Amino acid sequence: MKKISVIIPAYNEEESLPTLYQRMEKIMELMPNYEFEILFVNDGSKDNTIKIIKQMREKDNRICYVDFSRNFGKEIAMIAGLDYAKGDCVIFMDADLQDPPELIPELVKYWEQGYDDVYAKRKSRKGETWLKKFTSKMYYKVLQKVTRIEIQKDTGDFRLLDRRCVNALKKLRESQRNTKSMFSWIGYNKKEVLYDRDPRIAGQTKWNYMKLVDLAIDGITSFTTSPLRISTFIAIPTFIVLFIYFIYVIAKTFVVNEPIQAYQAIILLILFFSGIQILLFGIIGEYLGRIFNETKHRPLYLVNEYNGEKEMNEEKREEKIN
Ligand code: UDP
Ligand code: MG
Repeated sequence: MKKISVIIPAYNEEESLPTLYQRMEKIMELMPNYEFEILFVNDGSKDNTIKIIKQMREKDNRICYVDFSRNFGKEIAMIAGLDYAKGDCVIFMDADLQDPPELIPELVKYWEQGYDDVYAKRKSRKGETWLKKFTSKMYYKVLQKVTRIEIQKDTGDFRLLDRRCVNALKKLRESQRNTKSMFSWIGYNKKEVLYDRDPRIAGQTKWNYMKLVDLAIDGITSFTTSPLRISTFIAIPTFIVLFIYFIYVIAKTFVVNEPIQAYQAIILLILFFSGIQILLFGIIGEYLGRIFNETKHRPLYLVNEYNGEKEMNEEKREEKIN
């Protein structure tokens, strides 16, 4: 029997948990051919979240949990979930039921058809403000412009991942994580499923605009080092302006016989030195970008198939050989 791990990061979600469990129970009944594991990652909740999870585990041993020593944030909670999940596939789900568990059978259906990463795309976003929808749309546009990796729009963390995606993600151990960009980075066969995103059933969102801006910046800087190129791009027009102005001043000196004015010399000097400085920053930026990428210690590639066989991961391959 195949095992499905449902990973649920939870931070102060005591109000949502009972309903969440009820709805999950129904889904698990609908799918008797699968073994389930509901893995909660309690991200340092300050309310009774962990108490409720422990009570639930006493009644139902399909419920497992990882309890963090403090709040580490959702991104870290997700990688912990991947580390502890035992399933043949995992499903990421929010604790606030914004990701409807009723979609799980459909996700699993596509997994059985051979897809590795079945992600849920939002058709609509109920209970979200106009401003949040607009900013998120603009953000995705900009992000797609600066990177070569294809970015999935309107997609959160709600998705099913095959074991080999899990193993791949476990190899990306950087501490400043942007999981969304990693889902794109690992590749493999992706399949999109549309759904309506519900409003939160209880409690408050843990995001505010400051945190979202943080996330957005993390997203851009973890996807690409192109912001480091900015100074290279500023240096070029500075030198062009310098060159044109230089020609103008020299020409005037010779043609109209007007001596170079002090202010002209100053402008030329400022343009020259600021141009050089910006250019040097750009060069440093280029090297910094390379150091940044190397320090992530990512694998250089992930293989989809080898000699027509689905590639799992290195450890599995070594096991087979020995
Ligand atoms: N979450 C978490 N740690 C945090 C913040 C949030 O584990 O520091 C969990 C939270 O319990 C929920 C999910 O991440 O299950 C999504 O959070 P939230 O609903 O607040 O975000 P939104 O849906 O508003 O983007
Ligand atoms: Mg939510």
